[in-house]
Amino acid sequence: MEYLGGCFCGAVRYKARQIFDAGYCHCSICRRISGAAAVCWFSVREEDFELTLGDPSALRSSEHFTRYFCRACGTHVHGMDDLPVPPSVGSRLVSAMLGTLDDPSAVMPALHQWWSSRVPWYEEALALPRFDTGLIPHPAKRPRRTDRW
Ligand SMILES: [Zn+2]
Ligand SMILES: [Zn+2]
Repeated sequence: MEYLGGCFCGAVRYKARQIFDAGYCHCSICRRISGAAAVCWFSVREEDFELTLGDPSALRSSEHFTRYFCRACGTHVHGMDDLPVPPSVGSRLVSAMLGTLDDPSAVMPALHQWWSSRVPWYEEALALPRFDTGLIPHPAKRPRRTDRW
């Protein structure tokens, strides 16, 4: 099975095979870089990931991890660490943002990592009112569901 994806503007495209793992990350670096409370990622072995279009810029986001993003639209597409390869894995892993998949429904997260760093309201927020589009009632017209702002 092939997994196709890319950045928002289409200047960076990739092809991946053979999902190794997938999850949510609640670390503070992912949070700040994405601007989202948590991110979803999936990983594949290095040989199972191919950039098919574009030349993303590199950002060293921590001592051992480099992230690659589209210089045109800013989407963070994937990243790699440079730590020694664990024998049980056999290859370096590429982690890609799950939301960059053309069909994100094809890969379901299997875990939450950095759970200790999650925003404290993460689970509570899953029970919030849902609206099928961006057309949402004025906050004053909704039942108050939070006392945090
Ligand atoms: Zn782009
Ligand atoms: Zn993270």
